[in-house]
Amino acid sequence: GALIAQMMVDPVNLILRWYDELQVAQVSLARLVGVREIEPDAGDAEVRPDGRAVRADEVRFGYREGVDVLHRVSMDVPPGTRLALVGPSGAGKSTLGRLLAGIYAPRTGRVTLGAAELSRMPAERVREHVALVNQEHHVFVGSLRDNLLLARAGAEDAELWAALGAVDAEDWAQGLDDGLDTEVGSGGLSLTPAQAQQIALARLVLADPHTLVLDEATSLLDPRAARHLERSLARVLDGRTVVAIAHRLHTAHDADVIAVVENGRITELGSHTDLVAADGAYAALWRSWHG
Ligand code: ATP
Repeated sequence: GALIAQMMVDPVNLILRWYDELQVAQVSLARLVGVREIEPDAGDAEVRPDGRAVRADEVRFGYREGVDVLHRVSMDVPPGTRLALVGPSGAGKSTLGRLLAGIYAPRTGRVTLGAAELSRMPAERVREHVALVNQEHHVFVGSLRDNLLLARAGAEDAELWAALGAVDAEDWAQGLDDGLDTEVGSGGLSLTPAQAQQIALARLVLADPHTLVLDEATSLLDPRAARHLERSLARVLDGRTVVAIAHRLHTAHDADVIAVVENGRITELGSHTDLVAADGAYAALWRSWHG
């Protein structure tokens, strides 16, 4: 019963949990940082992204027949832009993020990378360009090496160490008796939540997608570990297009562009300064966030 309920609530998380149960060897397909709910026309392997601009064009989407969560949302995210999605709970921020990451296909309308439509690209190809980063940090049963190779099969150990270094995980990883051969995941070495997150970030470094959809972590970490990770994350985000789903405030503030999502529509778009000056929904959120 619980499983079914969970599936109805969030099929993506369910699938990810299920993947967790699998042996690493079986999930070479799991370059997943997210799983696409709707399999695209995978026969159309010729469809390649031909640019880095992410664009939503009249995107309509819902989870249940007859209920739309997003209503003809259009937006442009030029390469290198930091975009923050803000708005009330249930407004559709995470849903829009998942569509921009190609995890769900729109009911009508299109999400494109350059001129190519995400829902027409094989999921594998989408993942090379766009990754979803969320609170779920997956450590698979297998060695630390296996866990990293998921992001880039065939990478040399030196590249894996470089990725660990890029996310400040080098120190503890070098301290492991068996190094990259250390077994992790259930049954293996149990990692702290911060270490698990570093592994997830190291996978991102290896996969090297130019666009990241960041579903903000509701951090269970102690403040020191959180600050440490935030620095690593900032480095990973550097130079990429970032769509940050800001369930809380601080991520939004520094974004190049803030989109206010309300009832499945983008109702305001602009910089923090613009939107505060406009004195609309964002300004009200900003004031309420500041208590
Ligand atoms: P929050 O800030 O609380 O995370 P949000 O703005 O990200 O909210 P979404 O999570 O996108 O909002 O949810 C938008 C609507 O879609 C809500 O009504 C929610 O209940 C529904 N919804 C979200 N995910 C699913 C799902 N996997 N299955 C069914 N309905 C869903």
